Amino acid sequence: MAGVSLNKVTKRYGDVGVVHGIDLEIADGEFVVMVGPSGCGKSTTLRMIAGLESLSDGEISIGRRVVNTLEPKDRNIAMVFQNYALYPHMSVYRNIAFGLYAAKLPKPEIDRKVREAAALLGLTELLERRPNALSGGQRQRVAMGRAIVRDPTVFLFDEPLSNLDAQLRGQMRTEIKRLHQSIGTTIVYVTHDQVEAMTLADRIVIMREGRIEQVGTPLDVFHTPATAFVAGFIGTPTMNLLEVIVTSRNGAPALALGPDQVALTLPPDAAARLGQRSKVLMGLRPDDLVVEPTDAPEASSPRRQGLAATVVIAEPLGVTTQVIVQLAGRELVGMADGRFVPAAGTAVKIACDLDRLHLFDAETRLRLG
Ligand code: ADP
Ligand code: MG
Repeated sequence: MAGVSLNKVTKRYGDVGVVHGIDLEIADGEFVVMVGPSGCGKSTTLRMIAGLESLSDGEISIGRRVVNTLEPKDRNIAMVFQNYALYPHMSVYRNIAFGLYAAKLPKPEIDRKVREAAALLGLTELLERRPNALSGGQRQRVAMGRAIVRDPTVFLFDEPLSNLDAQLRGQMRTEIKRLHQSIGTTIVYVTHDQVEAMTLADRIVIMREGRIEQVGTPLDVFHTPATAFVAGFIGTPTMNLLEVIVTSRNGAPALALGPDQVALTLPPDAAARLGQRSKVLMGLRPDDLVVEPTDAPEASSPRRQGLAATVVIAEPLGVTTQVIVQLAGRELVGMADGRFVPAAGTAVKIACDLDRLHLFDAETRLRLG
């Protein structure tokens, strides 16, 4: 097993920079997920770790050994891609064993490794099948089996679940997490899916345009996003982000949501985060914005303030209802109790949880406080 260290890792294609000097320390045994929108440089970074792309600048170490000039086969890594490319004319057994035959391992050792991996992945009953007689999830497991038998020090995954339907993706996600818990090998996993990132990672690396925006545990990046970009990228439904003017209400600092006196009065600790700014970017997750009937009991705490709004669309999800509301000419997404599905045009109250208020500088888009 080994950790992975990226030091000012840079990739340029001609004059075009696509990875701009990334620094990242991945601990031995850690499960790190790199997430970000399409084209942000995730695959390029992973392929540089694998040795499938050269670096334009910087250094990559695996287990303290600089690997910049090592061939992929000498890096002791195993990679699983979105397209798992199994050999259609070979059985599951031979697909898993393929690399071991190529490495000329003794037959009994190959057999032991294949059967161990198959047991771990629930493939024991399927070893004699051909890939075309397998489901998508089973094929993906075979691809993982092929990686596992090589006993790599690091697993690299590039969007391994993107070809699967939603339900299967959920199942395979759980299996990958279980696999990591049982074998404990370092994993670097690339995805554009923030739910996958949240559920799998020990730490998430959020990338944007070839740079790292934030590195943290799933709960760090969810509760304390370092930038407005991270705030908007992590979490479903997406965080409401509004540019608001700093004003005052009865002598206390407040955030004006619109011209018509709709404002949230801030408790002193939140107000202190504003500094001298005259406008800020305010963020509230839909779950922290509760939509209620207008006759619901008044929120008594100053940390939970009610504002009048009008329903645009209500979407029942069962346990909760997702509600798009309009107030002060803006649309916000909030959540209601699942039994409350108000019709469009209904007047409602939204209760904002100010303990969960996120504030960002309107220009730099960096977190305040
Ligand atoms: P991601 O995996 O995050 O979707 P990639 O790492 O595949 O992104 O790509 C990052 C950027 O590098 C993209 O803008 C892509 O078009 C560009 N890119 C990738 N490979 C090449 C290449 N061989 N030549 C030129 N540009 C490339
Ligand atoms: Mg990619």
